[in-house]
Amino acid sequence: TISKELQAIHDAHELLRKFYHHLLVNTKEGQHALEYLLERGFSRESIDKFQIGYSLNSWDFVCKFLLKREFAPEWIEKAGLIIKREKDGTYFDRFRDRIMFPIFDRNGNTIAFSGRSLGEEPKYLNSPETAIFNKSKILYNFHLAKPHIRKIQQAVLFEGFADVIAADRSGVENGIATMGTSLTEEHITLLRQNVQSVTICYDSDKAGIEAAYRAGNLLTDADFKLKVAIMPDGLDPDEYIKVFGPEKFRNEVIGASHTWMGFKFLYFRRGKNLQHEGDRLAYIEEILREISKLTKAVEKDHYLRQLASEFSLSLDALKQQQKQIFFAEK
Ligand code: ATP
Ligand code: MN
Ligand code: MN
Ligand code: MN
Repeated sequence: TISKELQAIHDAHELLRKFYHHLLVNTKEGQHALEYLLERGFSRESIDKFQIGYSLNSWDFVCKFLLKREFAPEWIEKAGLIIKREKDGTYFDRFRDRIMFPIFDRNGNTIAFSGRSLGEEPKYLNSPETAIFNKSKILYNFHLAKPHIRKIQQAVLFEGFADVIAADRSGVENGIATMGTSLTEEHITLLRQNVQSVTICYDSDKAGIEAAYRAGNLLTDADFKLKVAIMPDGLDPDEYIKVFGPEKFRNEVIGASHTWMGFKFLYFRRGKNLQHEGDRLAYIEEILREISKLTKAVEKDHYLRQLASEFSLSLDALKQQQKQIFFAEK
């Protein structure tokens, strides 16, 4: 049986999720936040489906709202919803004047929030770790995406909440995201229990591409079949969908994603001028290093040929050097 305190933490989250949502969609106080979301391209349907809400611009709304319902302040503090002032022991609301994204566990219970600012930094503010919320275990939208992930045996991994929601609106319903952290072993285990193929669709800016490279290495190490989707001009998926629309997103981003090796061909090219001999040789060496990690002879052969033809090199020379790298790294 669940303790009274734990039950209260759960109940406080459920109550607030409903009330934040109500504030966003039905009240004058939430109107600017609703307009902001609609302007960004969120649909009313998505706002309901993802139970997006709004936290009032108030220091004590949550305090009063929950205290009136006989929640002990210590419990609400442990739930991460209010913060204690050192100097006088009074409390204030953690989330103020923010767009509220409820975070659900696998069973659809609200266990945390992430609040997006409408101006002030930080841009996103998450609930702290609590008795019921551990962000290294949570994948945003997993509870809704799971049946789709299992059915089509494919998951799409995004960077942000807005990306998951925009993709969902575009018919890509198997999207999930980490909570602003890198992928953990726990995330990988959870995914592995449900699916073998993952498409990484991180932001196509520098940070996103670096993160995709890191996540990609973790996922291939865990034996996932991996693809990487890339968008033009450093866009993120949400921005891309706003500019180019859902159909192009499905067909030209997700549908046209690169193989892991194809992504690495692009990844190691960045910041290099392949017209310059030094850059060109460095690039060839990096790609040979990647090829030497492959286990299938046919794949090795395929990429060696690709490299040979792109740079007009002899296949024999490439094979020889690849073997040297392979044995040097054993
Ligand atoms: P938006 O579209 O609302 O501007 P985004 O998802 O494009 O947000 P990014 O800057 O690309 O934002 O960051 C990706 C994700 O990283 C966010 O969705 C959020 O989960 C997390 N994140 C970003 N900034 C912060 C922050 N200051 N604190 C905690 N998490 C953050
Ligand atoms: Mn980003
Ligand atoms: Mn982004
Ligand atoms: Mn964005």
